[in-house]
Amino acid sequence: MKNFARALRFAWPYRYRVLFSVLAAVLAATFWGLNFTAIYPILKVLGSQQNLQQWIDGSIANTQKDIDEQQKKVDALADEVALIVKEPASKTRDNKLRHKDRELNAEEGRLSSLRDALYRDRVLKRYIDMLMPTDPFETLALVLGLVLLGIALKGFFEFWQESLVGNVINLTLFDLRNRFYRKAVHLDVASYTQSGTHELMARFTNDTELLGNGMRTIFGKVIAEPLRALACILIACWISWQLTLMFLVLVPFALFILTRVGRSMKRATRRLLERMSDLYKILQETFSGIKIVKAFTREASERRRFRNANKEYYQKAQWVVTLDALVGPIIEFLGVGAILLALLAGAFLVLRGQTTLFGIPMSCQPLEPETLIQLYALLAATSDPVRKLSSVFTKIQSGCAAADRVFYYLDKEPKVGVNTDGPRLDRHHQAIEFQNVCFSYEPGHPILTSIDLTVKHGETVALVGKNGCGKTTLLGLLLRFYDPDHGAILLDGVDLRLANLRSLRRQIALVTQDTILFDDTVFNNIAYGRHSASKEEIELAAKQARAHDFILKMPEGYDTRVGEAGAKLSGGQKQRLSLARAILRDPSILILDEFTSQADAESELEVHRFLKEFAKGRTTFVITHRLHTLEIADRIVVIDHGRIVAVGVHEDLLRTCPIYQRLHEAHTQRRVA
Ligand code: ADP
Repeated sequence: MKNFARALRFAWPYRYRVLFSVLAAVLAATFWGLNFTAIYPILKVLGSQQNLQQWIDGSIANTQKDIDEQQKKVDALADEVALIVKEPASKTRDNKLRHKDRELNAEEGRLSSLRDALYRDRVLKRYIDMLMPTDPFETLALVLGLVLLGIALKGFFEFWQESLVGNVINLTLFDLRNRFYRKAVHLDVASYTQSGTHELMARFTNDTELLGNGMRTIFGKVIAEPLRALACILIACWISWQLTLMFLVLVPFALFILTRVGRSMKRATRRLLERMSDLYKILQETFSGIKIVKAFTREASERRRFRNANKEYYQKAQWVVTLDALVGPIIEFLGVGAILLALLAGAFLVLRGQTTLFGIPMSCQPLEPETLIQLYALLAATSDPVRKLSSVFTKIQSGCAAADRVFYYLDKEPKVGVNTDGPRLDRHHQAIEFQNVCFSYEPGHPILTSIDLTVKHGETVALVGKNGCGKTTLLGLLLRFYDPDHGAILLDGVDLRLANLRSLRRQIALVTQDTILFDDTVFNNIAYGRHSASKEEIELAAKQARAHDFILKMPEGYDTRVGEAGAKLSGGQKQRLSLARAILRDPSILILDEFTSQADAESELEVHRFLKEFAKGRTTFVITHRLHTLEIADRIVVIDHGRIVAVGVHEDLLRTCPIYQRLHEAHTQRRVA
């Protein structure tokens, strides 16, 4: 509930719209209630064929007569009381006096109720005289016309209210999604790998939608429906508050049941949303890996996996539907029960001409059948808003579950601080130092241990080692995708953890092993490295990365779209585009992770030649399995099981480092083969 309330606070900037929607709801409810008051005059006119003026005059005369009689009764009782007071003091006299006093009070109460009724009739008479025609048919026509007008006005205010609420919700979700996205892109890389992108996608789309539904319920139904019920109940109270109260006795029961079902609903929705995340995960995996699915003919097993997840989702969804569907009939049953209770009591008063029920005074005069019908119509009219309200609890609880999931991410603080106030790093010109760096993704499973390495500005360092020895991880630490568990990384003497993060990343260009391209034009994909770059600069970068020629051969040259994740390009082409992107950035630190693994021998040679030039004045890290890429390196760092086992140049390492020898042998054998 706490998170749901926080989500509601997002609507604060639109409070005036909410206020107007409440006003519209009040007006709609008023017209809704007032429409039912037409029943009485209609029945009266049809039943007695009198006009309303005659009827109200008759009613006033009757009430006046009743008042006179009641007054006499009260006076007589008052006289009796006065006589008893004069009797000599005794216990019997005191008892008699107490008894008579009580009787007098009751009769006085009845007298004052009659006077109230007379006052009401007089007020009514004033309006009837002023507004109503004297002909009964014209009166009926006017009342029906007013009903139609009332319905139209009610409809207009309902429309106004709903569209305002819808607008507030859409604006609130707009802000919430923006906030969520902003938070998500600032989260550290670890959060993405921990929960997976599918989880974020699910929370971003499905959960926010459900949260929106909950909020729509709060601003819409929770305000409008009780107001409608209240309008009817207030008018019913005006007719007979005692009978109305009888109708309300079952309300606490209904509330109890609703809260119980609501709680189950929250649990059920949370499970439902988790299952939806699973579905997103499977969709994401199969669609993005569709080539592998097809090549390995795994369609059937993927279909089975999806079917199972879908079945689980269906089961959870069915439970939510069951809970939702359960509430309506329960509330309806209780509502009808309450109405029947009041009907039974009212019918007793009318048919037996009574004014008391089990000794409790219910009305000052015996009820007229028309009044009773009017009362029931009003009570029955409350059942519509109440039935609509029955789904409110469940919707809000679903919204709460969704809010918890959405705010889990909104509250998540990235482990890697952005340090906006930290010292800004100047363009790197001295050295990068790894000082006793240790790192693990999961506690107890060290990936890097005691890494000590100093790389001078302008140096090109190659990292070699078996797959999974920690090369990519080490360079990820330099980009601060993660922070080391122990030790520190210094750039020109400044600890990276203290420096302004943007100023660090701005001077690094990264070419990753799995090239990442966006579904945009070739031009924009290269310009991702530097948005302000001119066309000439982009073309130059493409030429340097040996990409210009193949780009020109594409259907629309630089304006060709590369497809989702660069699907329309070959692996080598993608690598060259991402190299062009890195070149364009003009970095002081260049990180190349297996950047030519898919290039043909000729273009690889050309790229190497260019890189030798480009690397001047920059510090370059190259991760490679290809030994001839090592030619561009000044030093080679050999890593094994997360430790640096040797640092040196090719010839020395061949002589002194057995691990390097084995790597070299394996590579030479592969080339010969
Ligand atoms: P290399 O680049 O040398 O091939 P990596 O640095 O990519 O190796 O990985 C080093 C080790 O860390 C591997 O054993 C790998 O399984 C593990 N690893 C990589 N990324 C993660 C991650 N996000 N969470 C947990 N373990 C990881």
